[in-house]
Amino acid sequence: MKRRRIRDVLAAPPSDTPITVCGWVRTKRTAKRFAFLAINDGSSQDTLQLIADAGTPAFAALDGVLTGAAVRARGVVKASPGAGQRVEMQIDALDVLGPAPADYPLQKKGHTLEFLRDIGHLRPRTNTFGAVFRVRNVLAAAVHEFFQGRGFVWAHTPIITGSDCEGAGEMFRVAAPAAGGAEFFGRPAHLTVSGQLEAEFMAMALGDVYTFGPTFRAENSNTSRHLSEFWMIEPEMAFADLDDDAALAEDFLKAMCRTALERCGAELAFLEKHYDAASSGALRDLAESTFARLSYTEAADALQKAGVDFEIPHAWGQELASEHERYLTEQVCGGPVIVTDYPRAIKPFYMRVNDDGETVAAMDVLAPRIGEIVGGSQREERLPVLERRMDELGLDRSELAWYCDLRRYGSAEHAGFGLGFERLVQFVTGMANIRDVIPCPRAPGTIDF
Ligand code: ATP
Ligand code: MG
Repeated sequence: MKRRRIRDVLAAPPSDTPITVCGWVRTKRTAKRFAFLAINDGSSQDTLQLIADAGTPAFAALDGVLTGAAVRARGVVKASPGAGQRVEMQIDALDVLGPAPADYPLQKKGHTLEFLRDIGHLRPRTNTFGAVFRVRNVLAAAVHEFFQGRGFVWAHTPIITGSDCEGAGEMFRVAAPAAGGAEFFGRPAHLTVSGQLEAEFMAMALGDVYTFGPTFRAENSNTSRHLSEFWMIEPEMAFADLDDDAALAEDFLKAMCRTALERCGAELAFLEKHYDAASSGALRDLAESTFARLSYTEAADALQKAGVDFEIPHAWGQELASEHERYLTEQVCGGPVIVTDYPRAIKPFYMRVNDDGETVAAMDVLAPRIGEIVGGSQREERLPVLERRMDELGLDRSELAWYCDLRRYGSAEHAGFGLGFERLVQFVTGMANIRDVIPCPRAPGTIDF
C-alpha cells in the first residue's frame, strides 16, 4: 500500500484508479446520505475532502471519529462541485489508525499563539505552524541552493568550542560528568556563539565558504527576536572587501524572498490573511528594491534630526537600539538599508579598522519590521593592527594565536557576515515572535519539548 501525499492529490487530475491517503482529521460533517471528512497530512496548506456515502463500510467507520484522529482512506479522486476546491475523494474504505478523544486541544476555533506555545508538540498540526515550518524548510534548502550555486563550500564549524573570545558572558558551558574535577577537553569548553573565526580559516584556504548550523547564546534577553538556540548562516569570502560583502548580503536576501514567493504561495497567502497584512507585498518590494546605504555617521545624524521621542535617545558612538534600527529602515529609507562603518568601540576586535582610525568596516542590514537581520564586516587582515585591537580589549593573544597565524601566513583581505536563520523566517512569514518560527524554542526559563 503506497500512500499518496495530499499535496500531490490536490494537484493531480481526477482519476478512476483507487488511491490511499492518510492524515489527521480537521473537521467532520455528517448528513443523512453522506459524511464529509476534511483531512490534512502536513504536505499542503489545504485539506482534502473525503466523502463517504451512507450505507458503505467507510460511512460506518466514521462513527465516533473526531477532530484530531489519524485515519487512512481508500477511494477515487473526483472533480469537486464545491467552492474553493478542485478535487475531492469518494472513499470506500476508512481505517482509524489512532482515534482522538473529545479533549483534543486543537478544536476548530482559532487558538492564540501563546496557548499553542504550551502545546508545542501539537502546534505543527495547525494551519499556522504547518505553513511556518514548510516555509522554514523551503528557506533552509534555498540557503544551500544559493551558496552552492555560487560555488561556496559548506564548512562545518564546531558546536563545542574552546574559544570564548567572541561571546564572553553569553556562552553556555559544556561539562562532562565529573571526572575528578578535570576538564574533559583539558580546558573550559563552551557551545559556539558563532562559527565565524573557524569559517575564516576555511575561507583562507577554500576561497568562498559558508556555515549553516546551530548557535547558542546565553544572553538574558527575553525578546521577540532572540533565542538561546538558533541557526546561523555565516558566509565568508577571501579576497573580498566590504562592498563585496554588502552585495552578497543584498543578493542573498532578495533570493530568499523570491524563492519563498515562488514556492510557498499557499503558505504565504494564509499567513498574510491571518497575521501580517503586508507580508508577501513586503517580500516582493524587497526582492525588487535596491537596498539603501547609510554610513553609521549619516544614520546617527538622521536619528538626531528625527524629532522622535525614542525610549533611548541616540548619540554618535552608541549602539543602534531596535527602535533606532526600525526608524532608519521604516521611516528614513522606506525599505532595507545597509548601515556601514560603525564606531570601532562598539564592534568586535576582528573588524577592519578604517583609515579614520575611529570606525571599522562593518555593515549591518536592517529590514522593516525586524531591524537587524544581517551583521557583517571586512575582517582585519593586518597583523599589527589586529594585535593592537586585541590588546586594547584585553583579549588573550595566546588563545587566538591560530587566528593571528592567518595574518602571518598569506594574509589577504576577506569579509563575511552572519544572519540568524530564524530572523529570516520571521521576516518572510511575518510572525511577530521568533519563538513561533522554530519547532522547539529555547529561551531563558523555557526548555519544554
Ligand atoms: P542583536 O543586536 O539582535 O542581539 P547581535 O549583534 O548580537 O544581534 P550578531 O552577533 O551580529 O548579532 O549575530 C549575527 C546574526 O545572528 C544577527 O544579525 C541576528 O540575525 C542573529 N542573532 C543574534 N542573536 C540572536 C539570537 N539570540 N537569536 C536569534 N538570532 C540571533
Ligand atoms: Mg545580541
